[in-house]
Amino acid sequence: MQSVNPYTGETIRTYPSESDEQVDQRIRAADRAFRDWRQTPFAERARLMHSAAAVLRDRKRELADLMADEMGKVLRDGVSEIEKCASCCDFYANNAPAFLANQHVDSDAANSYVAFDPLGVILAVMPWNFPFWQVFRFAAPSLMAGNVAVLKHASNVSGCALAIQEIFQQAGFAQSVFGTLLVESARVEKIIHHPLVRAVTLTGSTPAGRSVAGIAGSELKKTVLELGGSDAYVVLEDADLGLAVRTCAQSRLINAGQSCIAAKRFIVVSALYGQFVQRYVEEFNAICCGDPKDGETDIGPLARHDLRDGVHGQVQKSVQQGARLLAGGQIPAGRSACYPATVLADVKPGMAAFDEEIFGPVAAIIEAPGEQQAVALANQSQYGLGAAVFTGDAARADRIARDIEAGSVFVNAFVKSDARLPFGGVKHSGYGRELSSFGIREFVNIKTVWHG
Ligand code: NDP
Repeated sequence: MQSVNPYTGETIRTYPSESDEQVDQRIRAADRAFRDWRQTPFAERARLMHSAAAVLRDRKRELADLMADEMGKVLRDGVSEIEKCASCCDFYANNAPAFLANQHVDSDAANSYVAFDPLGVILAVMPWNFPFWQVFRFAAPSLMAGNVAVLKHASNVSGCALAIQEIFQQAGFAQSVFGTLLVESARVEKIIHHPLVRAVTLTGSTPAGRSVAGIAGSELKKTVLELGGSDAYVVLEDADLGLAVRTCAQSRLINAGQSCIAAKRFIVVSALYGQFVQRYVEEFNAICCGDPKDGETDIGPLARHDLRDGVHGQVQKSVQQGARLLAGGQIPAGRSACYPATVLADVKPGMAAFDEEIFGPVAAIIEAPGEQQAVALANQSQYGLGAAVFTGDAARADRIARDIEAGSVFVNAFVKSDARLPFGGVKHSGYGRELSSFGIREFVNIKTVWHG
């Protein structure tokens, strides 16, 4: 498995994939670690999780550098990502005992209550776009719940995968409470079938989720899936236009557009459409794609050259289908996997930019005659991860928020994950929830205890 710097095109390192026997041994070791870990008091788990947060904070610059090298994230965003991971560790260290406390329920019993027991070894299949955050937002709650984890990270970020394993060890966690498996995706099926793997979480594309869910389903193993999105941002005539344009542009460019919850489709009512398009193009024309280690760079390269080529193909197809290209849309010369901030206007259902997820800095702007049509267009998607509404009327926003088929709806702001709030999707964006009290209860046995 190769780590290739997407800015320079140079191979950083090649990692040999582990044999079936090594994988089996790691899973067995994880299961043995589980026997002790599940008995560890919350206070001790919390001490270790706070220690992991401290290690992350200490190493944030070095880890940001690693992300810049392996997948092109600009350094300041890498530092923020590591800080967010540290906060998530602290959050679950502080709150897991309350989230998982026994719940007493009045019933016919002399005493009855609900307990939350860990399941065992959880397999995490994770993507490269937020190589630390995606892992920590699963690992912090799961480990605090008493589970142990094995990580199959994306093949292009093996350095990050090994760094995460090292962080838990440096923090003092027993060996094998968190372990990394260096294997390609073709090997995941066998791992899911392993009898000691109790459940699977996957963040990634819809095809990967479908495959993992099918295999896990055949074993009756629980899955949580956080898949793609094509988040719609609805801009109504009573919106603050400046705020809407700035927020929509910013959200589309998060991580060079490679975020499941980046804004992807901008549905603007006719009254504001022309002005919105003009101002949006101005914002995007000012964006420069370049060296992720240069402080002046707005967006880094895409994570892999093949992904960049895929994004460009979707742009070209959309233009052939009638979208108007107003900014970007050309692959720059050179070895980097850069792609310019690109604006497509007059996008309609049936075009690639409307129907598919574009995982890059490409905005699809869509005109809607009014509110009703805008909401219908927002829902006209196979995805349902996040959405946003821009309006000056809070009651209107609440009504629309309830009509939009998505796991979260933000009002006059861009969608972001927050350890205190649940995160996940509906439709082809997946199922189950991460973060908050909901996330930590995904991988537990919700057990009824009844005293006669
Ligand atoms: P994938 O979904 O292919 O990769 C994500 C993770 O899943 C990686 O660890 C990958 O391993 C693994 N994987 C891939 N296929 C399978 C499979 N059949 N069974 C088990 N595991 C699998 O994403 P890509 O990197 O190919 O990106 C393609 C598209 O996916 C993007 O353009 C974007 O649309 C979407 N995506 C969404 C993300 C999100 O945050 N929701 C994150 C990343 C991608 P390996 O690297 O070894 O193939």
